[in-house]
Amino acid sequence: MNDVPAPVLDRPAVLTATATDAATRPDEAAAAPLRWLNTYAALGDAFSTRLAAQALPEPQWVATSESCAALLGWPADWADRPAWRALEVLSGGAPWPGSEPLATVYSGHQFGVWAGQLGDGRALLLGEVASPAGPMELQLKGSGPTPYSRMGDGRAVLRSSIREFLCSEAMHHLGIPTTRALAVTGSALPVRRESIETAAVVTRVAPSFLRFGHFEHFAHHGLHGELARLVDFVIDRHYPECRDAANPLAALLGQVTRRTATLMADWQAVGFCHGVMNTDNMSVLGLTIDYGPFGFLDGFDPGHVCNHSDHQGRYAFARQPNVGLWNLHALAQALLPLMGQAEAASEAALEALEPYRSVFPAALSARLRAKLGLVAEHDADQALIDDWLTLLAAGRTDYTLAWRRLADFDAADAGPVRDLFIDRAAFDAWALRYAARLAAEQSVDAERALRMKRVNPKYVLRNHLAENAIRAADGGDYGATERLLKVLERPFDEQPERSAYADFPPDWAQHLEVSCSS
Ligand code: AMP
Ligand code: MG
Repeated sequence: MNDVPAPVLDRPAVLTATATDAATRPDEAAAAPLRWLNTYAALGDAFSTRLAAQALPEPQWVATSESCAALLGWPADWADRPAWRALEVLSGGAPWPGSEPLATVYSGHQFGVWAGQLGDGRALLLGEVASPAGPMELQLKGSGPTPYSRMGDGRAVLRSSIREFLCSEAMHHLGIPTTRALAVTGSALPVRRESIETAAVVTRVAPSFLRFGHFEHFAHHGLHGELARLVDFVIDRHYPECRDAANPLAALLGQVTRRTATLMADWQAVGFCHGVMNTDNMSVLGLTIDYGPFGFLDGFDPGHVCNHSDHQGRYAFARQPNVGLWNLHALAQALLPLMGQAEAASEAALEALEPYRSVFPAALSARLRAKLGLVAEHDADQALIDDWLTLLAAGRTDYTLAWRRLADFDAADAGPVRDLFIDRAAFDAWALRYAARLAAEQSVDAERALRMKRVNPKYVLRNHLAENAIRAADGGDYGATERLLKVLERPFDEQPERSAYADFPPDWAQHLEVSCSS
């Protein structure tokens, strides 16, 4: 026999209550491992409106991300556990016990113009769940109208939901800060866009979905008390180091500036074009947020505009870093009322933005030098980088393939990278300089190739790859989305059996217009 003590029968009341609940409502008790924090709801009515999601009729799983579930510390079979009712909850059919769904209010500048009140027009914050990575907000996108829907229907189509799901996860695995995506649920519910499509709901995950526009909203309406509460909320939860600074607001602005600057460097280095960099689509945590008509560059074109509604090219690829700074000015403007006397406040705010001008170029150079496989830092490196980019732009050379193939370059034989250039003489001239530069730091080809393949992805979410997954899903084959996700989860690995996903875009993709309706 053993010495296990007898069960303690006199349990504290709270545990007894849980046991009773389990007996009467086993499903809810089993779903209870999710501990909800609902801190945004606690900020008060000025910040959000509580409301329930609207169910998708007869929902189905389109895709789930194991990696995102692991981030939350959830069991591998979370989506299939009957007690979790995850399909029902994540298609808007019922809330998880303990969550207090709400839509948040924000405003913003769209295409450089003040757009007034926007807000979560089709998203619902379910609250924050405790996770091994800290509190994580869960948000449904496409779960029905809210008080902020304006003329919209509150829905998201399957096409844009698959794109957002895949790109969120792809960016994470590329090492780029982003909101995550846990799942997409879909339904036959018709949704009218340019044509009739079907509805879907994406479950997004992030430490915070707060945007620059949240701050602009309260500043614009002169609600300085609410503005101060929001700032306190963000500092306490996400930037606690700013609390003890001489000027906590300037410190906060400085931190957001740095994160935005490095995010822009990440985007430029990988060839990612966001497409709708309005201030309501800028995360205060420096995350990539709100995936709409985004695109990864195929042929390198600095002027590439991926949003077909962006007639002026405001959000062209090469303009993104400047727009990032423009947006930071809008955030700074919103914080000014809390920063004291007008003149001193503007001075402190401008000073807080100043690091952008050094952090961004330094971060981009560091990334591009690493992409070239350089270890030491030489004065002439910037010219080598600039001339490489000019070469790529001149021939509209495929951006991802060029960098990846450059990893296998050697001085005696440039290898397959050379085949990408129509102007071979121009490539050869640059290659001579590159070879000399590598020799100057006694670069070992095999080691350099390994290094370069860890920073030059083989697989990115090109438009045609997303389109193939969408077409398959429209035809009822949801498996294609998760198969593509598996490839994108290892963007730097060779995955020879998946090489087709790393090919040039097919001819039909040249004419692919990514609609900004979503
Ligand atoms: P976006 O351009 O997707 O970042 O959205 C800009 C604003 O429009 C946000 O306030 C969205 O919530 C809102 N919005 C976009 N599409 C819809 C929709 N179908 N229904 C309601 N609101 C929407
Ligand atoms: Mg948005």
